[in-house]
Amino acid sequence: MVAIVPDQADPQGSPEAVRSPRRVRGHGASRRVRFERDSLARVLRLVRTHEGITRQEIESGSGFGRAVVADRIATLVERGLVEDSQVGVSTGGRAPRCVRLRYDAGHLLVASLGTTTLGVGLSDLSGRLLVEHHEQADAAVGAERTIDRLSALFDWMLEEHPEARPIWGIGIAVPGPVELPGGRLSGPPTLHRMPGWHEFPIARILGEQFGASVWLDNEVHLMTIGERYAGRASGADVVLFVKIGTGISAGLLADGRVHRGAYGFAGDIGHVVVDGDAAVLCRCGNTGCLEALAGGAAIAREGRRAASSGESRHLAELADAGQVITATQVGAAANRGDPFSIELLANSGRLIGETLATLVNAYNPSLVIVGGGVAQAGEILIGAIREAVYRRSRSLATRNLQIVRAEMGRTAGLVGAARAVTDELFAPDYVRSWIEHGVPTRTNEIPRASVARPDPGRAAPRAGRRRSGPRVGTVATSGTRSAP
Ligand SMILES: [Zn+2]
Repeated sequence: MVAIVPDQADPQGSPEAVRSPRRVRGHGASRRVRFERDSLARVLRLVRTHEGITRQEIESGSGFGRAVVADRIATLVERGLVEDSQVGVSTGGRAPRCVRLRYDAGHLLVASLGTTTLGVGLSDLSGRLLVEHHEQADAAVGAERTIDRLSALFDWMLEEHPEARPIWGIGIAVPGPVELPGGRLSGPPTLHRMPGWHEFPIARILGEQFGASVWLDNEVHLMTIGERYAGRASGADVVLFVKIGTGISAGLLADGRVHRGAYGFAGDIGHVVVDGDAAVLCRCGNTGCLEALAGGAAIAREGRRAASSGESRHLAELADAGQVITATQVGAAANRGDPFSIELLANSGRLIGETLATLVNAYNPSLVIVGGGVAQAGEILIGAIREAVYRRSRSLATRNLQIVRAEMGRTAGLVGAARAVTDELFAPDYVRSWIEHGVPTRTNEIPRASVARPDPGRAAPRAGRRRSGPRVGTVATSGTRSAP
């Protein structure tokens, strides 16, 4: 087990200040209440961050005496938040009993809003998904219709799992930068570069409907967290995750935590200028951006051009047969040996790899994970990325570097959202706000009658269809690997 140091992130009470409640004088009753609340929060946080911690370890980690620790654990057990688990290792004498968080004490609703897909999940406090559903969607229909659909899917999951109520928190992954005050998931975040979505009050609407606090974050940050807990990044401390979809963005894991930057914008690498002479206009308004030259939209655009000019006979035949040329078609054509598609993907991979090489030199990760829909196009793209990273990085930085393809697919964003929300629920300030009630909800707010109803043309999937997969919309459950 990792050594337990006193919980210094907790500013409201050093071990010295709270070791003995008898020392507390003055406004005795209110101070006693505050001490009880703070010590409960401290013990709960230690139990959550140290799987299978013993009572003795809680005593040394918190600075509280044996009686206080025993009392607080009894209270937390009574409230259904922690439980005794397996017996710890004996150091002579009776083996100590361990305490652990009850992951089923609370449940979270999570969602991933993509530009072309919508994913939802219901998870426990460990990030394990009890239900997961993905369907095709179009963010261009606007925020209001998309959020109506999302509400209907959330309602459906809660009908299937009534035991999950009350919901403890809601986490939403969005496809772009989210402005976070101080880089933390707090306050009403601001969405950038999503037409019709800017300043749309997603958090307020969903919070009122489901009686829980709502957190939003950039999907690539949440996918990075998901890969850390249930994917290829498990056990690695410094990891670079790059998502190649319509656009390109990256998440950096440092010391096991995602680096969001001062205001939440870290990892927006799609707008690094890779060719100052390129005339291609990016959606950000600049020219020569990486994603405008190498992202999924760029690959599709070049594929369509080659189909109509006849430069690629293979793609021209697909277009003649009525198929829309996307990055997926280009990937399939490359796998069948189409020279134009091979060249196009190799060039995209080279541009992406050269940008990643700069990050590899700057951050020295042990692992680069390449995810997103376009990354599934085949070995040619990832091979070109590998080649460029190894060629352009310092040999010291690449000596033990692995570059692999993501395996979690869309599940990563949902698992990451669940983990990020749980982190917020158990953050020192936040946990103190709800620990006395035992449940972090906003159930006293807007009544359920005001819940927006689903679009009648797109009813929520019905109960009973779940095992064979919900049939509404086009369901894609790629990478349905469950979190631990
Ligand atoms: Zn740009």
